[in-house]
Amino acid sequence: MRASRFFISTLKEAPADAEIISHQLMMRAGMIKRLGSGIYTYMPMGLRVIRKVENIVREEMNRAGAIELLMPLVQPAELWQETGRWDKMGPELMRVKDRHGRDFAIQPTSEEVITDVVRSEIKSYKKLPVNFYHIQTKFRDERRPRFGLMRGREFTMKDAYSFDRDVAGMQQSYQVMYDAYVRIFNRFGLQFRAVAADNGAIGGSGSHEFHVIADTGEDALVYCPQSDYAANMEAAEALAPTGVRAAASADLVKTATPGKSKCEDVAALLGLPLAATVKSIVLAVDSEEDDKTATQIWLLLLRGDHELNEVKATKVPGLANFRFASEAEIVDHFGTPPGYLGPVGPRKPVKIVADRTVVAMSDFVCGANEPGFHYTGANWERDIAEPLVADLRNVVAGDPSPDGKGDLAIQRGIEVGHVFQLGTRYSQDMQATYLDETGKPQLMQMGCYGIGVTRILGAAIEQNFDDKGIIWPASIAPFEVVLCPMGYDRSEAVKAETDRLYQELLDAGVDAILDDRGERPGAMFADWELIGVPHRIVIGERGLKDGKLEYQGRRDAEATSVPPADMAVFMK
Ligand code: ATP
Ligand code: MG
Ligand code: MG
Ligand code: MG
Repeated sequence: MRASRFFISTLKEAPADAEIISHQLMMRAGMIKRLGSGIYTYMPMGLRVIRKVENIVREEMNRAGAIELLMPLVQPAELWQETGRWDKMGPELMRVKDRHGRDFAIQPTSEEVITDVVRSEIKSYKKLPVNFYHIQTKFRDERRPRFGLMRGREFTMKDAYSFDRDVAGMQQSYQVMYDAYVRIFNRFGLQFRAVAADNGAIGGSGSHEFHVIADTGEDALVYCPQSDYAANMEAAEALAPTGVRAAASADLVKTATPGKSKCEDVAALLGLPLAATVKSIVLAVDSEEDDKTATQIWLLLLRGDHELNEVKATKVPGLANFRFASEAEIVDHFGTPPGYLGPVGPRKPVKIVADRTVVAMSDFVCGANEPGFHYTGANWERDIAEPLVADLRNVVAGDPSPDGKGDLAIQRGIEVGHVFQLGTRYSQDMQATYLDETGKPQLMQMGCYGIGVTRILGAAIEQNFDDKGIIWPASIAPFEVVLCPMGYDRSEAVKAETDRLYQELLDAGVDAILDDRGERPGAMFADWELIGVPHRIVIGERGLKDGKLEYQGRRDAEATSVPPADMAVFMK
């Protein structure tokens, strides 16, 4: 590729809404362009990365015996009604009507459609097992789209679905996918961890998430350095004797009755006596978005019986710290009685912690960020809710590992893949059966397997960047090597050597870009460092006189003089 014929558009500053480094750098490097909330155009530079990610995924899926097809984006509601997901899924499922008033879903995944394909196409045990996949656009009307491609509303996912005759077969298909995922994430060159995930109603050990390790990750991962125990926080807490279960939060929130405190609702739902358990005030964020965190706090309070002793300092900048000796003092300070739910008197950001238990929280509403009134410049989840929830955890670093082999450690991760044993969850509702050897119909055993293709870009950058920009792993870089000639249009020698080397690299199958835009060296280098191309070769007249070119890897502190013949070696 010649840069003059490609589209390159870099920015000095990231837009203000880009909160995390990967979003900022992708915007600055011209990889994506925002069209609406959680909706992005994949610009040419970004699309090259997406295609490389897709190709690796496709190669490994094919290698693992999965078969590619492509299912529609727009899917009839009838199929979604068969499995009950039309009603169960809530507002995250995007629904549209056609001109005849018929309902459709824009797919967030494709269990229903693939099960429909298989139930009509596959009748006999002889055609099983089978695993179909596609790489397709998804739409999820996320409550809080953010961080660029990391949590988009429209995004690309690879989703695969396996169909087996029995549970043992399903488990085997699952293992094949698990192994393929390990190969895929290794080929991306990313540091990752597979963790057991809670698969709720289906039970068993039938679900794992794959996480790219990054401090900015939304998920907490619990692992034991002395053994292979690894689980996401929810699954780890499910095992912990006093675990707080956040899973029910959505249902709990729905139970809130107008005029009644949510605390009472939650207490009723859990069958706990309110008066006996809630000793201190319960004040929470009253914006709907923060219900999940708030519910966890209520649950904790309901487990109750905590002595309020110290008010811990908090890491959130600007948060006021208070020290209260008694509940009466808290009540006095806020001017609200225990159990009151709603905005707190002084509307100051407050976090009050007793041991690991949050006992009061004001309604410093994140979304509004109104100057002089609300807490400004904060990201609710990252700066406030996340540390709060971390304090609420019943599993903390240093706890004994459930396998008894050591102590637990915690790190943060970005969920980039998820494999799941579904059993007959969908085949039952949709009557996906096959005839066994004796001619008897049997339900198919299913598995499903997702990879967040576009999320990989964000995750890769969170793990690989410096103050100059992105540092792509070579396997998914938009270009593997950039040739930067000094005076391409002025020096015959430079032009000749650049063209020769460029052709040689292309012939060797190296994805090279020649920067023939005529930019000043400083600007040219800054662009490619920002874009994150892993290898750079500078071709200049002075070096050529000594028979040398300059090579610099994106992580190298300085360039090395290298004879042209050695270039290919340097890059592989
Ligand atoms: P999350 O917990 O981040 O909301 P999820 O568990 O809802 O993700 P799955 O249904 O397991 O997601 O989908 C499979 C994969 O799709 C995820 O592991 C993730 O990599 C990707 N993914 C899910 N939601 C999004 C999104 N909004 N934007 C980009 N990728 C996503
Ligand atoms: Mg989700
Ligand atoms: Mg998840
Ligand atoms: Mg998931």
